[in-house]
Amino acid sequence: MATVTIEGVRKSYGRTEIIPPIDLEIASGEFIALVGPSGSGKSTLLRVIAGLEEIDAGRILLDGKDITRAEPSERDMAMVFQSYALYPHMTVAENMVFALRMRGADPAEIDRRLTAALRMLGMTDYANRKPGQLSGGQRQRVAMGRAIVRQPQVFLFDEPLSNLDAKLRAATRLELRALHDQLGATSIFVTHDQIEAMTMADRIVLLDRGRIQQIGTPQQIYREPRNRFVASFIGSPEINMLRGVLSPGAGHPSFAGLPLPDGLRVTAERKVDLGVRPEHVSVWTEPAPDRWPFEVEAVEFTGHDAFLLGKTPAGRITARVDPDSENGLADRVTAGQRLHVQVQARHVLLFDPETGLRLPDG
Ligand code: ADP
Repeated sequence: MATVTIEGVRKSYGRTEIIPPIDLEIASGEFIALVGPSGSGKSTLLRVIAGLEEIDAGRILLDGKDITRAEPSERDMAMVFQSYALYPHMTVAENMVFALRMRGADPAEIDRRLTAALRMLGMTDYANRKPGQLSGGQRQRVAMGRAIVRQPQVFLFDEPLSNLDAKLRAATRLELRALHDQLGATSIFVTHDQIEAMTMADRIVLLDRGRIQQIGTPQQIYREPRNRFVASFIGSPEINMLRGVLSPGAGHPSFAGLPLPDGLRVTAERKVDLGVRPEHVSVWTEPAPDRWPFEVEAVEFTGHDAFLLGKTPAGRITARVDPDSENGLADRVTAGQRLHVQVQARHVLLFDPETGLRLPDG
């Protein structure tokens, strides 16, 4: 186990700055997800930590020791790539111990580590197979095994689950997190998939154009996003974002001229981006003073959720309805129907339209 400290690290390719100076402190034994849209610099940052890319400025420390100039092989880190890059002519066992052998490790020790890793991964019976005789999930395990036998202080994962189908990916997520806990190493995991980040990580580092937008637990990132980008990136379906004027009224605040229910403190009139997640919009068949007219445009049924997409006078909104609720609304509703929505004011997130930063209430 080891801490990883990134101090003022900067990386450019030619004149293009990919990572402006960033600081990041990763605790020993922590599982960190680097998440962000494609091209946000996640892989670059991971490769910088691995020592596969030189940096223009800053320092990288492993347990307080400066490794900025250390070769990748001297860093006590093991990387698992998206393309497993297994040697096709070698068996599972040979693939897993190849790097150790090359380093001239003690054969008895190699054997001990191999046996342990195969057992941990449930791959003991496959030790003598070639990669071509394995499923995608099993190949992924071999790639994991190759990292595990090295007993590194830090695991670096670059989208290692991307080549698996959705079902296997969900199962492998859990296994990988359990492995991390068992090994007690520090893990840094790159993904563009917010669900992967949310379900596996202790803390998420959300990147956009090389800049850290927010660092926090999945709960903090979801419930207390620092800015509009974070709020919109995390959450599926995406948070509703409406632009309009928020007014205190005479004790009855309103947004875009529409009444809001109690729960939001509004002290002064101002233009905002009002964010509200689909699960925080309730749908009604009957009107009421704090409900907004809602014309349904589409219905999405996913099994455990149903989402209604439609128009309100303040803009388009997606609302989650419980598909199993007693009133059966989710099954009855059709496009074109006129209903009413209520924005749950205490869950509303407000953002400055200019800077995108989250505002305190009111
Ligand atoms: P992500 O992993 O978030 O998708 P990357 O770290 O791969 O993003 O890339 C970040 C940016 O750096 C992208 O704009 C990409 O085009 C650029 N980039 C990555 N590698 C190189 C390289 N070797 N040379 C020049 N530009 C690169």
